[in-house]
Amino acid sequence: MKPFAYVKPADVTGAVRAISDEPGAKFLGGGTNLVDLMREGVEQPDTVVDVTGLPLDTVGELPGGVLRIGALVRNSTLAADERVRARFPVLSQALLSGASAQLRNMATVGGNLLQRTRCPYFYDHAAACNKREPGGGCDALGGFNRSHAVLGVSGSCIAAHPSDMCVALAALDAVIEVESVRGTRRIPMTDFHRLPGDTPEVETELAPDELVTAVELSPAPVAIRSRYRKVRDRASYAFALVSVAAALEVRDGTVTAARLALGGLAAKPWRAHEAERILLGGPASEESFTRAAEAELAGADVRPGNAFKVHLARATIVATLRELNTGEGPGKDRA
Ligand code: SF4
Repeated sequence: MKPFAYVKPADVTGAVRAISDEPGAKFLGGGTNLVDLMREGVEQPDTVVDVTGLPLDTVGELPGGVLRIGALVRNSTLAADERVRARFPVLSQALLSGASAQLRNMATVGGNLLQRTRCPYFYDHAAACNKREPGGGCDALGGFNRSHAVLGVSGSCIAAHPSDMCVALAALDAVIEVESVRGTRRIPMTDFHRLPGDTPEVETELAPDELVTAVELSPAPVAIRSRYRKVRDRASYAFALVSVAAALEVRDGTVTAARLALGGLAAKPWRAHEAERILLGGPASEESFTRAAEAELAGADVRPGNAFKVHLARATIVATLRELNTGEGPGKDRA
């Protein structure tokens, strides 16, 4: 690992000043991704700014019922929060489906937002990877791409975003608050991550000197009836091949509100706007759920290794919506 300087500021002002003064610096939260990347030589910061001493580790409630989640709240703490479990069960379920209990105890909300792809070529210095070395090529395009993205991909990169939490936050219309020496700004979750285009190394709207300070969740009655369903190669400690965060409100057989976001399919949590459009005002039926799923997936760009994801995603979307509609299914007792 390359030698680096270490600083531990006591407040947010000190943290953003430290990174502003040192362009080659990185913030360190739980370290569950950054330390791995540093060990592999993918990330080589000159300075590590340890933010774990900042007062950003609580979940508070703002006027109007907005939940304000500090960026340093641990994933396990957030999953167990009674307000999250009652009002946003999809978020609690997504968090509990991620990683292992030990990692959830370490990982922070801010770090989860910023975790990087698990594309194996990204971590392998012998492989060509545009994300690690812009302009270097992409070995995943013609290589082992079973876990890779099928939506919003480019000829530069087909990596998938690894987070479960972020898929739920996208469905819930979360807002990300960030801070820098220039002040505070707020970014809608659905705009926070980027698709690869020609610059897959730029993964978010966050400037290099901006610190994520909080995530805010506005009240959403539809979210009370929400589910996260994750399909993966083994029952725990595996990234999603496909995941679905969904919320559904049905009155007299008609869908009156719907939220849908997909994981494992794109470089960002994929908010399924087209599917939501079809669902809203239509019958809560198997046929309508299938039509919505197929419309959302119509633009999929597949490789031989990951073509199965389209069928898997369609089936998982329909199953999740059916479960929400009937109240039956494997997810009803989770979280
Ligand atoms: Fe790199 Fe993206 Fe290609 Fe993976 S898919 S090798 S991260 S450019």
